[in-house]
Amino acid sequence: MSSDLYPVSRLAAVQEATAKAGIDALLLTPGPDLRYVTGYDAKPLERLTCLVVPAAGEPYMMVPRLELPAAQASPASRLGLEFVAWDETDDPYRIAAARLGRPGTVGLADRMWAMSSLRFRDVLPGAEQVLAGGVLRELRMRKSPAEVAALREAGEAIDAVHRQVPGLLRAGRTEREVARDIAEAILAAGHDTVDFVIVASGPNGASPHHEVSDRVIQAGEPVVVDIGGQLHNGYCSDSTRTYSVGEPPADFAAYYEVLRRAQDAACAAVRPGVPCESIDAAARDLIAEAGFGDHFIHRTGHGIGIETHEEPYIVTGNAEPMEPGFAFSVEPGIYLAGRHGARIEDIVVCGESGGERLNNTSRELVIV
Ligand code: ZN
Ligand code: ZN
Ligand code: ZN
Repeated sequence: MSSDLYPVSRLAAVQEATAKAGIDALLLTPGPDLRYVTGYDAKPLERLTCLVVPAAGEPYMMVPRLELPAAQASPASRLGLEFVAWDETDDPYRIAAARLGRPGTVGLADRMWAMSSLRFRDVLPGAEQVLAGGVLRELRMRKSPAEVAALREAGEAIDAVHRQVPGLLRAGRTEREVARDIAEAILAAGHDTVDFVIVASGPNGASPHHEVSDRVIQAGEPVVVDIGGQLHNGYCSDSTRTYSVGEPPADFAAYYEVLRRAQDAACAAVRPGVPCESIDAAARDLIAEAGFGDHFIHRTGHGIGIETHEEPYIVTGNAEPMEPGFAFSVEPGIYLAGRHGARIEDIVVCGESGGERLNNTSRELVIV
């Protein structure tokens, strides 16, 4: 695990941001927030593991005694943290509360389970609970060069899978059969886990989050393939290409070309200082001008890092100015209910003067 990716200095930066936000302590249970701060990919379990980052004073981690060896073997051990091991008959929430005193506000990991957040409410009745994400988003959104390199590696891995897709798609196979082969290829390409495999043929392509079904792919059908996984280092890939099994319907080919130009325009609009929503508008305006505005039914993109969907969101209403290090998807789509659909998705990182695409397979309609 690269120590550049999860630098030891991050904990101090988080503590400083916590104090600045007027939060007395962050409580980070297993999930992306904990991993981001410590590098520790702790299992989410009913037994409490929780990094406590007080605005002032020493951070520590509550750990079930049986998880202690795993915590000590994890990258969190580099941080010089105290591990507060608790035994099976202890109440770790009470132990944490006793150490915390009487905080006014605590920031809970965005993905904390309700069973933990409610227990923290019980033992800290005077504390207002807010999302730790309010603090962590500012850090997580701005990818370091090491994080950009990890996302680039993830992009290359998923591109290698897309290059194999034309060999897997053919009339007569079911979506599920194709998806199974793609899932294998995602792991073989260097991912640790398969996060999702969408193989949406014909009319299923009009449902953006269709996953797979037993539908048999027919000749002459467009197929939307949206795939992603997580590398061992925690960073995620996500890329969509739309293929056609044989010659597609003429109207499909026409709107696919509109989509391709819209996706290009949005990628070209990326540069520091422009509002995130302007990237959405760059794609949406072109699609609307061509008469397909009502068929582009989702935002243009989402941030990506150690989660597939994180900030910043590329959506109308997000006026946040782009900064170097923002990494996000650009994935406009056109969906004709009952008929077919298309989406083209690349991960793009904002650089000093423009965007860099981290996915680089052909965006022309690939006819297989
Ligand atoms: Zn999606
Ligand atoms: Zn996707
Ligand atoms: Zn996506």
